[in-house]
Amino acid sequence: MKNPATEDILEAYDIRENWPPYTYRDYPDIKPEMYESFIEFLSTENTSGILMELQPWISICDSRCAFCYFPTTATANVRIEQYIDMLKKELNMYAKTKYVKTSVFDEIVLGGGTPSVLSAEQMIDLIDFCKERFTVNDEYFIKVTGSSKTLALDKIDKLAAYGVYQMDMGAQTFDNKLRKALCLPDTAENVEKAIRRAKQLGLCVCVDLMYNLPGQTMESWTNTLKKAIELDVEIDTYSLHVDPGTTLEKMIKKGISPPQGNAEYEKQQYLVAHKLLTKAGYKAVGHDRFSRVEWHFRENCLNGWPWGGILTTGAGCFMGYLQRFSYSNIEDVNTYIETVAAGKLPIKKLSESSDEDMMRRTMTRLYLRLPVDKKEFKQKFGKTPEDVFPQQLKRLKKKGLIEIDDKEIRITKLGDIWKGNIAWEFAHEIVTK
Ligand code: SF4
Repeated sequence: MKNPATEDILEAYDIRENWPPYTYRDYPDIKPEMYESFIEFLSTENTSGILMELQPWISICDSRCAFCYFPTTATANVRIEQYIDMLKKELNMYAKTKYVKTSVFDEIVLGGGTPSVLSAEQMIDLIDFCKERFTVNDEYFIKVTGSSKTLALDKIDKLAAYGVYQMDMGAQTFDNKLRKALCLPDTAENVEKAIRRAKQLGLCVCVDLMYNLPGQTMESWTNTLKKAIELDVEIDTYSLHVDPGTTLEKMIKKGISPPQGNAEYEKQQYLVAHKLLTKAGYKAVGHDRFSRVEWHFRENCLNGWPWGGILTTGAGCFMGYLQRFSYSNIEDVNTYIETVAAGKLPIKKLSESSDEDMMRRTMTRLYLRLPVDKKEFKQKFGKTPEDVFPQQLKRLKKKGLIEIDDKEIRITKLGDIWKGNIAWEFAHEIVTK
């Protein structure tokens, strides 16, 4: 087969899909029988041998970014001590189950929200709690998400001294004009100051950077990327998705904010980032990460998809999955607190994947820039990916987006730009020979 030209690959689809077909919003609301089935699953042994991630969520923020659709609660509306007590109670409920007792974790991630609204002492106490109740391996590491506004420099010092490995910050952009328009809570200078302090103390820092922001010029995007490269941080790049109901959507509708760029502009911004970052020695890994830290390419939790697990807890958390079960929690903090206090897992949505779903999920390893091992696929499902997805694989190969050999299926270097679209190809049409 003749290899498609670069231009053809770059034009493979009209619009880039930035997310795979599976999001927590599609999970069904939990039904009593499903809850029971999950509890039953938790009473079984975890024999997967795959290291897992533990995510206590602090779904609290002290301000609201204009684009945010996350179910977070304002600091002023939460009694933080009470929330932490219930979070520990929920963690403990999981820790007592056979499944979790037979699981080993190598990451503890304080996510959210903005966990740094807690004091350093509260964050450390919570991590200590996790370390006492869950089995962590010898090389486990701790990540904390925070905003520069809530990460006072002495807080960073305490977290570094405690042994936090990575600080994740939603920097989004270093352009102050855009920061203001997006209601980001701090100036670019303060974000930079917090990053420099963390780096100085030996922490790994990862920032989210968003492109296709309303009014974002190519120059502004390039400058933001250059600043991140200069600060020597890991970078997660996201294309902004304007969600219904967000302040930003209303601002665009009313003409207070300019609209986003079109699909072509969005693609060009991604290509600029890819070019600039790979030239600076970064490698595209995982969901949306550009990394210069070699061992991050082999992170266990990521590589275990879709058979490993992320045990996520806290109000509004939505990235939980334990093998075939995916779940998200109750969003309203008060209802969350009441539910946990009553001794129930505070799950809002839960789905259990069938074999067909798991086959599709296995193919979304391509979205994560991971190979699909054909032998493993056959062992799990009794069929090869070619048996199940003949049309999709033929189509993607013809377009030059994937490579297939005897051992595995991988996305190609240029196919990388369409990884979201590739994932969507497997959401439909399933042939079971
Ligand atoms: S800090 Fe994050 S979770 Fe909080 S409002 Fe902003 S985007 Fe949403």
